[in-house]
Amino acid sequence: MGDLARFGHVIGGAEVDSASGARFDSVNPWTREVWATVALGDQSDAERAVSAARTAFDDGPWPRMGYAKRAELIHRFADLIEAHADELGAADSRDMGKPISQCKHDVARTALNFRFFADHAKLAMADTLPMDTGHHAYTRYEPAGVVVAIAPWNFPMMLESWKVAPALAWGNTVVLKPAEDTPASATIMARLALEAGLPPGVFNVVHGYGPNSVGSALTADPRVDRITFTGESGTGKIIAAAAAQNLTPVSLELGGKNANLVFADANLDNAVSWSIQSIFRNAGQICLSGSSVYVQRAVYDEFCERFVAAAEAMKVGDPLDPATEFGPLASEEHFTKVRRYVETVGDYGGRMLTGGLGDGWVVKPTVLVDMPADSPHACEEIFGPIAVVTAFDDEDEAVGAANATPYGLDAQLFTENLHTAHRVAAKLQVGTVWVNCFFIRDLRAPFGGVGYSGVGREGGNFSREFFTEPKAVVMQIDGGL
Ligand code: NAD
Repeated sequence: MGDLARFGHVIGGAEVDSASGARFDSVNPWTREVWATVALGDQSDAERAVSAARTAFDDGPWPRMGYAKRAELIHRFADLIEAHADELGAADSRDMGKPISQCKHDVARTALNFRFFADHAKLAMADTLPMDTGHHAYTRYEPAGVVVAIAPWNFPMMLESWKVAPALAWGNTVVLKPAEDTPASATIMARLALEAGLPPGVFNVVHGYGPNSVGSALTADPRVDRITFTGESGTGKIIAAAAAQNLTPVSLELGGKNANLVFADANLDNAVSWSIQSIFRNAGQICLSGSSVYVQRAVYDEFCERFVAAAEAMKVGDPLDPATEFGPLASEEHFTKVRRYVETVGDYGGRMLTGGLGDGWVVKPTVLVDMPADSPHACEEIFGPIAVVTAFDDEDEAVGAANATPYGLDAQLFTENLHTAHRVAAKLQVGTVWVNCFFIRDLRAPFGGVGYSGVGREGGNFSREFFTEPKAVVMQIDGGL
């Protein structure tokens, strides 16, 4: 046990053990060995963390500090994130098996997210409305209070930063609960926030499980003013129900079963290259993954041939090797879930063009065809490296297939025809449409899903609306008309 990395909660400005002294292990999914020991929180630790955040909000300097000073401290925090890129990247890679090159990319995006939201809050303007009555109305965006952020394991620090950064920039205090499979980078970030000079209690991290544990204790606490959650749609329903008990506003970024439409006039090199990223990056553990690939019949055979070749060319290996493109699934539990889909392809009359099980917890980049539209492979969020490719004849059929899901997170479409691009983008019932690309994000744009994919939007002013209480002030100017 002596060589294991140790991670604690960060509560009220100090890294601490659980009140009970309990700990849990983080397992490296490539070696399948324990690499870190982590404080295992329970309800009392959740309460401690909310108390620290409450005190820091009610009595501390952070909400009253002003945008410019907060931005200065958040930029210093981003500097430290960049300076610790190796440590942070390796932490996520060891926790969940993501290739280190992708983890480094996530670190850079995390720092950028903090910088963006610091500047956004500092430079934001608010409405002033001259009224015909001789008054004017203006808007104040006041911090909401204590924010609970609950995160999944697939993009640990990056997704956490989408929540923590705007919450902090707008003057809130935060309790972050990372996923139990990926605790390390959150503790490292909280250590760095203290080093940057964020006051104690402003950014707290508490580790542990969701149901009947830290997660549910945080969502039930009436002292919490906002809950922001990213994870499975089923968990989202439970959290929305918990939040409703205290009428706590909740933002939900949930699962997806996303379509990737390749029209016959597409630039196929581009379509294949982005489709590979969309489905096999991070071993398919991406909520946005375009795993339902619909290809117009005229190019179906050629697309399949090129797509399979590109999938087989991916370098599978040790995630800590900078050349690795594709690693194991994040945990044994998740591997067991995804393996079932691989093993049942034939039961539904489907064919596997490439892929299947690899060593350890690896499922290789897998391409399926001839899967019925009502098979679990075609309908359910697998959250693994499994693409289902289906031919379509015309635009209506493609759009109908893409929209035939209770989810609505995103879609990708590939075409060289401007009219097709705009028309189809308008018809897709999703939060984001990528045309001839994937995963490109402008932080000012709305991000979120419809239906089972979520409630609310993140990004720019959308984050501001959620993490503040907008207040109208109506003032008499000249005594009225
Ligand atoms: P999950 O729902 O199992 O867990 C997410 C987090 O919620 C974890 O921290 C977990 O401990 C916590 N949790 C679980 N039950 C809880 C409860 N009852 N109360 C409070 N907290 C609870 O999800 P996951 O397996 O970690 O992540 C994968 C899912 O996340 C996929 O469905 C994926 O599509 C989705 N996701 C969505 C987005 C998005 O932006 N829409 C981004 C990434 C991942």
